[in-house]
Amino acid sequence: MEHYRDDVNQIKQGEHVFCLVDNTYTKSRGLPAHGGMWMEIQADTFLKRRPGKEGSERDYLSPESTGAHELGHTEGLDNWLEHTPNMKQEGEKRKFDNKSITPNQIETIYSESEAGHLNRDPPKSEAGNIFTRHKNSASDSGRSCGAI
Ligand SMILES: [Zn+2]
Repeated sequence: MEHYRDDVNQIKQGEHVFCLVDNTYTKSRGLPAHGGMWMEIQADTFLKRRPGKEGSERDYLSPESTGAHELGHTEGLDNWLEHTPNMKQEGEKRKFDNKSITPNQIETIYSESEAGHLNRDPPKSEAGNIFTRHKNSASDSGRSCGAI
């Protein structure tokens, strides 16, 4: 795993970078670049107490399911607006740490990839702008990024 600090323009083709941040620019639990190669995860996601039994607490969302949700955005998936439980529901709506993905969503990832809509450069520079603003904001004191 390679480490990056601030400069998402160092991201190489084929990598997906998870950045742990004190606060995302939008103050949400996670922040992706749609079809891009990076995502942010708010660090306090890792500090919340895990329930004894996975999926037993209504309002607990694990860092891994948050990461999977954001990775889904980079793979071209939108938030899930249907009322059935799904990992692509927005954080406030997703309950019991749901990690479900539908065959249709997997097909969407494949067709978005085939169409050349993923791993694009524009979201990378957009991310650079967000990161620059973020770096200059008083609320941001920490960031640690790693690529897979
Ligand atoms: Zn989302």
